[in-house]
Amino acid sequence: MTGTIKAGLVGLGKIARDQHLPAIRKTNGIELVAVASRNAQGEGLNNYGALTDMLAGEPDLDAVILCQPPQVRYEAARQALLAGKHVFLEKPPGATVSEVEALIDIAERQGVTLYASWHSRYAAAVGLAKSWLASRSPKHVSIQWREDVRHWHPGQPWIWEAGGFGVFDPGINALSILTEIVSEPIALLSANLEVPANKQAPIGAELKMVAASGAPIEAVFDWRQTGPQTWDIAIETDGGSLLLSEGGNMLRLDGEVQVKAPDEEYPAMYRRFVRLIENKAIDVDIAPLRLVADAFLCGEHRTTAAFED
Ligand code: NAP
Repeated sequence: MTGTIKAGLVGLGKIARDQHLPAIRKTNGIELVAVASRNAQGEGLNNYGALTDMLAGEPDLDAVILCQPPQVRYEAARQALLAGKHVFLEKPPGATVSEVEALIDIAERQGVTLYASWHSRYAAAVGLAKSWLASRSPKHVSIQWREDVRHWHPGQPWIWEAGGFGVFDPGINALSILTEIVSEPIALLSANLEVPANKQAPIGAELKMVAASGAPIEAVFDWRQTGPQTWDIAIETDGGSLLLSEGGNMLRLDGEVQVKAPDEEYPAMYRRFVRLIENKAIDVDIAPLRLVADAFLCGEHRTTAAFED
């Protein structure tokens, strides 16, 4: 397409304000013109209470960016695609695997872009980790993703409800990096899920996976960590060791720091979205979501103490 892409954003909440608005401002080729949000208004933008109204009121809109919780993502994405709009999905791309597959099919038939963004894949050190691993075989992978839910997700009831993912909301970020840098199929073998007595979604999870080459992969996700936060992926290979930390923004190879850079994930994702639209391409990798779905499918559920957030 030629000219600046006119975009409308749905769900003006935490991630939209923290990341999407500044990233769109920094990106050539795309401009935010409208917002659809039930309770919030975007400054200097055309505001609507619902996506239906935004689509009706903005016939020139090229793209729709969906930043609401995953439970309501599918219906909005479907509506936007059927209206002929290119669609940017926040992570996770949906609450179920089948709905994301259905969206791919709709986007293909409509001839528009569908982009399932995985922001952690754009963290500063992920590209180098991937190329270093490309010439080595992993022997063992250990993921530790431990954070304080009260700090990162205050006042977000949806995250504890069915389809809200619980601790897999951050955990899927680790899985998105894992499936990006380890270039072999990964099978989920078993999972233990700790679910607070007053919630629908887990506060802690342990996963056992295996790479096609046989390398064991263990992951621990925990939302009860106060103090320093941990977002680490450690990989032992036949040719040295790798430690990705700070959510993918810091890389050590054999103990030596190679990369330590600030997070610039969202501007990189918007540059990608613009390129995808130029090519009317679809970029939806469901691998991280499939691992989460498998963990829920085969995981043992253990009820833990009620949790007040
Ligand atoms: P949020 O602030 O709780 O929700 C975003 C907005 O969605 C809300 O302000 C609300 O806007 C709308 N919304 C909330 N519940 C809704 C519902 N039940 N039905 C329809 N709309 C609803 O959440 P967030 O932290 O921005 O996260 C949104 C998505 O971004 C999630 O998938 C999350 O995994 C992802 N994400 C979040 C972060 C982060 O740091 N928070 C980082 C990366 C990705 P209105 O009430 O005005 O409609």
